[in-house]
Amino acid sequence: MKKQLRFNSNTIHGGQEPDKAYGAVMPPIYQTSTFAQSTPGGHKGFEYSRSGNPTRHALEKSLASIENGNYGLAFASGLAAMDAVIKLLSPGDEVISTNDLYGGSYRLFRKVFEPFGLHFHFVDMQDPSHIVAAISENTKLIWVETPTNPMMNVIDIRAVADLAKRNNILLAVDNTFATPYLQQPLDLGADIVMHSATKYLGGHSDVVAGALVVRDSDLADRLYFVQNASGGVCGPMDSFLVLRGIKTLHVRMQRHCENGAKIAAFLRDHPAIEKVYWPGFEDHPNHEVAKNQMNGFGGMISFVPKGATYEDAVKIVESLEVFTLAESLGGVESLAGHPASMTHASIPKEEREKSGVSDALVRLSVGIEDAEDLIEDLGQALSALN
Ligand SMILES: *Cc1c(COP(=O)(O)O)cnc(C)c1O
Repeated sequence: MKKQLRFNSNTIHGGQEPDKAYGAVMPPIYQTSTFAQSTPGGHKGFEYSRSGNPTRHALEKSLASIENGNYGLAFASGLAAMDAVIKLLSPGDEVISTNDLYGGSYRLFRKVFEPFGLHFHFVDMQDPSHIVAAISENTKLIWVETPTNPMMNVIDIRAVADLAKRNNILLAVDNTFATPYLQQPLDLGADIVMHSATKYLGGHSDVVAGALVVRDSDLADRLYFVQNASGGVCGPMDSFLVLRGIKTLHVRMQRHCENGAKIAAFLRDHPAIEKVYWPGFEDHPNHEVAKNQMNGFGGMISFVPKGATYEDAVKIVESLEVFTLAESLGGVESLAGHPASMTHASIPKEEREKSGVSDALVRLSVGIEDAEDLIEDLGQALSALN
């Protein structure tokens, strides 16, 4: 397709064309490991499915398109995508990362890559001067997650990108929470966008997958080399599921945002609630940054009940009936979690509390059900506290 389409159309058509064999509108699931060759090296574009597969290729084109990038790479999980980025580095290199980030990302940095001689600095990036203070001649990568998980802080991507460019440092942004519907980090100056496609891109809690998108061809080549050499690729069936999910990303996100706003307002007015973390509130400390770089505020909300303990928070998430108590986020169904015992259990308590993840914090991934049902469910769970 030659015509430049708008975002919503791109989720459906971006980088896609009917399958060459029979004109199938959705790319078939090419569930094959290898491809016949007419003479050695004489193939039709694919030779072995770790190196490339037509279903994955269709997904990778879609990913590049919706993030306004030139190259997409699909991985077996979000962490496999991150793993490929970190493998661009060498022993002695330093990384500056958001301090309030996905627990599994923290574990990958500290437990897997530090023993190989890489150094990670975790800083509060709401104030970019904290990044400046952590830069050394060995700093090779800045890793940003925004909005942060689970505290919903917002980091100014453009400000960090300016800093990164001035110091010749790569900037990667984990765009899992916002999705390209709300925020396009490459347009704001990032070099790499990363996704856990398990979440909003897939959108139906039925697949684990990851993605990277870049503009620069040399960077794309280096990442493709790692993808093929290390092998953490997205399988054909999983590629199909993520691609199918992306085609409704815009309509799902619209409802996630509407429901998120209603539930954030309900919680803030509830007498049993101490604090609600959601970047759409005008008194959110980073609301102006969020308004500038995002097209909406999403359906991820965290809150702390008044005077609540670890046990109280557990009781609330156990009492919910429409919200499912589960890890993960970004699916059509609403989920609730207790970061201290679930997603962030791999972060030491002192580290966790430094970034605000207290024992009583509850995190919601607001789905696309009727908001009234979600509100009634939260109401009954909060009344279980007394
Ligand atoms: C889930 C998640 C990841 C890890 O992705 P997986 O697909 O589970 O490997 C990374 N970053 C964020 C923000 C996430 O929510």
